Amino acid sequence: AGAVTIQDVSKTFHVENRTVHALDDVSLAIASGEFISIVGPSGCGKSTLLRFLAGLDRPDGGRITVDGEVVDRPSLKRGIVFQDHRLLPWLNVEENVALSLRSLAGAPSAKKERVQSLIDLVGLTGFEKAFPHELSGGMSQRAAIARGLAPRPPLLLLDEPLGALDSLTRSYLQDELLAIREREKSTVVMVTHDVEEAIYLSDRVVVMEPRPGRIAATFDIISRRP
Ligand code: ADP
Ligand code: ADP
Repeated sequence: AGAVTIQDVSKTFHVENRTVHALDDVSLAIASGEFISIVGPSGCGKSTLLRFLAGLDRPDGGRITVDGEVVDRPSLKRGIVFQDHRLLPWLNVEENVALSLRSLAGAPSAKKERVQSLIDLVGLTGFEKAFPHELSGGMSQRAAIARGLAPRPPLLLLDEPLGALDSLTRSYLQDELLAIREREKSTVVMVTHDVEEAIYLSDRVVVMEPRPGRIAATFDIISRRP
C-alpha cells in the first residue's frame, strides 16, 4: 500500500502581474514501501508538490493517485509532518498523538495502546502529559511524527521534518526515522534541503529545478547504510 503515481502535474500561480510556473509537467511513480526524498533549491516546487500529495491543494493539470485513488482532499491515509510541528498547544503529547484517531473506528483501549506504542517508538516515554511549550524542538518534532503515524497511513509525507533542529538532534532523529520506517512499513516522501540527509535516508532521491519547477534528475541510492 501507499503506491503513488504523479502524472503530468502542473501548477501556475498568478501573483499581481507575474506568473510563476511552480510545477511544469511533473511525473513520478513511487512504489509501495519506498522512501523518496525530494531536494532542490528554494522555489522549485517541493512544498507545492507535497501539498498536492497530501490533498491540501490541487494541481491545475495532471493527476495524483495513491493506491489507484485520485487524491483530491486530505485523508487519514496520508499523514503529514511539517517543519514547524504544528502541535495543538492546549493538548498534551498523548492528546496530540491521539487526535487523528478520534474519528476512526476501534476500541478506546486499542487506540490508547497505539498512542503509547508510538510515544515509546519516538522516545517520548514519560512525556505523555507534557504540553508542547514544555518540549524542546526535537521532542516536538518527535511528537508530530508520532501524530502523523497514528492512523497507520500507508503514505507518510514529511516537509523538512528535521529542518529546524540542531545538527545533533537531527542526526539522532534521522536514525529514528529509519527505525520507524522499518517498523511501520509505510511509503515515505520527504522534502528536505539537506542532500546528505536525503542520501542517507532514501531509496531514491529526486532533484528538482526551479522556473519552471521540474524534475531535473532522480538517483537510486544503491549503497546501503552501514
Ligand atoms: P519550494 O518548497 O521548493 O521552496 P514552493 O513549492 O514553496 O517551492 O514554491 C514554488 C514556487 O511557487 C515559488 O516560486 C513560490 O514563490 C511559488 N508559490 C508557492 N505557493 C504560492 C502561493 N500560494 N501563491 C503564489 N506563489 C506561490
Ligand atoms: P518551504 O520553506 O517549505 O520551501 P515556502 O516558504 O516556500 O516553504 O512556502 C511556505 C508556504 O507559503 C507554502 O504553503 C506556499 O504555498 C506558500 N507560499 C510560498 N511562496 C508564496 C508566495 N510567493 N506567495 C504566497 N504564498 C506563498
